[in-house]
Amino acid sequence: MQQLVEVERVAIRLMEVKLSLEWKEQKEGGDGSCFERKGVCELRIENVPITVHFDHGCSKTELIEAIELGFDSVMVDGSNLPFRENISYTKTIAVLAHAKEMLVEAELGRLSGSEDGLTVEEYEARLTDVAQAEQFIDETSLDALAVCIGNVHGKYPASGPRLRLDLLKDLREITLNRSVSLVLHGASGLPVELVKACIELGVRKFNVNTEVRNAYMESLRKPSKDLVHVMESAKEAMKAVIIEKMQLFGSSGKAQ
Ligand SMILES: [Zn+2]
Repeated sequence: MQQLVEVERVAIRLMEVKLSLEWKEQKEGGDGSCFERKGVCELRIENVPITVHFDHGCSKTELIEAIELGFDSVMVDGSNLPFRENISYTKTIAVLAHAKEMLVEAELGRLSGSEDGLTVEEYEARLTDVAQAEQFIDETSLDALAVCIGNVHGKYPASGPRLRLDLLKDLREITLNRSVSLVLHGASGLPVELVKACIELGVRKFNVNTEVRNAYMESLRKPSKDLVHVMESAKEAMKAVIIEKMQLFGSSGKAQ
């Protein structure tokens, strides 16, 4: 857990850890000991199976490096590329990753930093297209699909998130019989009921960043006795959010 405070990004990966493990178990019926085979991360916690996920791989170079290092899963983020290029980028990495028994997550649709200033047409154009998703999965052989159904990285507008659950339902239909898991990035600030609805509709991994970062920063703003307490409280504040999310996402108590 010390890495949780040393490198903020690792906190997110730690949160993804159990969920990544769930994919592995779901897909391979594994026993959770997969981490022992990997040399990339020094992190070991007794009796806690851990996998390490490489998030948002936006370049071939860094993804190839991650694959060589021995991550358990990688996210190939070619969502900013034209459709055909996203397929070929994802496929290239998926072949390399699968050869090392790594799971591959890839993204189709474009998550914006916020919905501010987008016209309805621009907003719709960023959503994951079902027909494209079908082709994308079949051609790339990915294991998990990160979708855009109105989810955004960062903060949702004051009016709240506008998720297209009807679209998620359609995406669920095409992923279910292909054994592909659905992933939702931008899960910070989603109300409990909405998260539950997404789980019902097949989402098996949520990415939360903003809420964890905010908990840390807000804790720093509170008066504290001295430096030791400041850091300890900030760490505890992050932990509290992570625990809450693990419970909400249904990952608590699943590790074996
Ligand atoms: Zn993301």
